[in-house]
Parts: sequence; C-alpha cells; structure tokens
Amino acid sequence: MIEIKDLHAYYGPIEALHGVNLTIGEGITALIGSNGAGKTTLLKSISGIIRRTGSIIFKGENGEEELIHKKPGYMAKRFIIHVPEGRHIFPGLTVEQNLETGTVNWHGFFGNKPYTAELEEVFELFPKLRERRKQLGWSLSGGEQQMLAIGRALMARPKVLMLDEPSMGLAPIVVSELFKKIVEINERMGVPVLLVEQNAKMAMRISKYTYVLDGGRIRMEGASNILREDPRVIETYLGRFATTKR
Ligand code: ATP
Repeated sequence: MIEIKDLHAYYGPIEALHGVNLTIGEGITALIGSNGAGKTTLLKSISGIIRRTGSIIFKGENGEEELIHKKPGYMAKRFIIHVPEGRHIFPGLTVEQNLETGTVNWHGFFGNKPYTAELEEVFELFPKLRERRKQLGWSLSGGEQQMLAIGRALMARPKVLMLDEPSMGLAPIVVSELFKKIVEINERMGVPVLLVEQNAKMAMRISKYTYVLDGGRIRMEGASNILREDPRVIETYLGRFATTKR
C-alpha cells in the first residue's frame, strides 16, 4: 500500500529520521524500538505533520502516487489515517459526536451525508461504544477512549491505519482485548495497519512483519515470527532486561 524510501524528518534544524525505508503491506506491520527511537516521528512524518524529505509512494486502485510533498489534509484524503499517541479524543463531545468527527475527510465539516453504515461497523467492532454513545468522551475509561480513538479513525474509511502505542497505560487484560480488535480490523475489515508499540512482544505476535527503529534508523527488519527469535531482539526488546518492557 505504501512504500517509503530514504525518509528524513526534521524538527526545525534537527534531523530526527535519517533515511528510513519501510513498506506497509496488507497485513499488520509492527514498528518497535526503545524510547526516543523515532517511532512517533516516523508516523508524524508519514502524516505530513512534520517536515520530511525522501519518497512516500501510495499504491492505490488508480496506480501509484508520490505523497512526499503533500500536506496532512491531503494524506487524510488519501485515507492514510493516524491515531496519535495519547488518543486525543474530544472530551466535551459524546461518543457518537467524536465518531462523527472522523468522517470529515469524506463527509466534510458541514456535510450531511449519512454515515450510519460506518457507525454500525464501529459499534459492531466495539459494542461498548454503542452502549456509551451518548456519554461524554472524558467520562470513558482509558481502554474505552482508545477504542473511541480507533473507532473515529475507522469512520474515516482508512486505506491505511497507523496506530501509535495503543496499549499505552492500559491494564494487560485490556491490552489483549485491544490487540484482538486490531487483528480483526486487519483481517475481517481488510485494513492494513502500521502498529507502533513499546509492547514489542504483543506487537510481534500479531504482526506479519516487524521493523526495529533505533536512533532514527531502521536497524533490523524481518518476518515477525523469525525476528522474535533473534537473540539481539530478545535481549533488547523482549528479554528480562528489555528497556521497553512494561
Ligand atoms: P517514545 O516511545 O518515547 O514515544 P519514539 O520512538 O516515539 O519514543 P520520538 O518521539 O519519535 O521517539 O522521538 C525521536 C527523537 O526526536 C527524540 O530524540 C526526540 O527527543 C526528538 N523529538 C521528538 N519530538 C520533538 C520535537 N517536537 N522537537 C524536537 N525534537 C523532538
């Protein structure tokens, strides 16, 4: 779906990514790495929120398109949807209103096209959101807020979904529930996912392919089931002394 080549990203004069090559295929692609490795920066640069150079080729039904010079709004119009770290739902809007905001890339701010099919699909995936549809965002639990953030992204009909640390701050039982939903989004709903996670073990369990980022560079990559047996990965990201373990 997306082929990234020689991607550099910048915070002002500081270069934070130094030539990243990465492919987002049809399955779940995991991106792991320790704190400050550049994972969030990579998602932000794909979304166009921060300055970037290199190449981002989007492969859609109508052929290939270079997106590197496009603005964030255009990336969303190409249905590349980013669920940021920390969820960022609207606390003063109801669950349903939050979900409605996800439709602006195809529905428009003042549009009145129906979105009941999308809403029904999100409620089917996350029945808790249906129960709480009239409840205000701030009153939801952490896990429910994460579901809402993902549900809002699904309302946008993503062609590619990018999730930044969905498990952050959630209890282990909620995390495993959430990861099952991510698999369902990919397998049943057919949405390719780029999953950024500190929880490397879980991310490698559900993904097809994994990239390991460190210091703004991809240091290792491979099929997840093979990479998770690699002693260097075990020692640094999965082992007893792994810095990324939570
Ligand atoms: P974490 O798991 O802690 O979220 P990460 O892998 O997502 O880490 P990034 O947040 O992408 O890492 O940070 C990568 C590098 O970019 C770090 O060195 C960080 O200090 C730097 N950085 C991040 N945001 C900014 C910013 N707004 N201005 C300047 N430097 C930044």
